Amino acid sequence: TARLAKALQLTLAVVKPDGMAHPLVLEALHQKILDNSFVIVKCKDLAWKKQDSEKFYVEHAGRFFYQRLVEFMSSGPMRAYVLAREDAVSHWRELMGPTKVFRAIYTSPASLRGQFGLTDTRNTTHGSDSMESARREIGFFFPEFSVEAWMQQEEPAFR
Ligand code: ADP
Ligand code: MG
Repeated sequence: TARLAKALQLTLAVVKPDGMAHPLVLEALHQKILDNSFVIVKCKDLAWKKQDSEKFYVEHAGRFFYQRLVEFMSSGPMRAYVLAREDAVSHWRELMGPTKVFRAIYTSPASLRGQFGLTDTRNTTHGSDSMESARREIGFFFPEFSVEAWMQQEEPAFR
């Protein structure tokens, strides 16, 4: 169990409003999660108010794209996943590809953002960038969920 706990990581993955807009894109994103041996620990659909968006992205307050980002992320429904896997954080980031759409298309055309990204802002998915962010972000989306408790389970209940 100690080895399992060490190898397993949790991350937060989010389908942004542009990714929710087309059922085939949503389906492809979900399939990508399954094909990469992630366990879906939690999943829910939700929509943000503008204040939720501002709070989540407070690290970007003042950047030129902040208003645009905040408006976009509160423009429609999203799907949030808590995913478990070995190296979950970096693996999901790798699958997403680079933030900016042209970089994604030219350097990682098979990545999620390379395939489905529309603009630098409307880039289809979110993923935590470190274990520390994952913990904070999972708490933001799933306040009832305890990462610590989940990690300490002898036999993780995958749901
Ligand atoms: P990531 O989502 O890859 O971690 P950041 O944390 O840097 O990227 O930025 C958060 C989000 O803000 C991005 O996913 C994207 O939606 C938006 N964003 C970032 N950089 C830009 C930019 N240069 N122009 C427009 N939108 C941006
Ligand atoms: Mg980020």
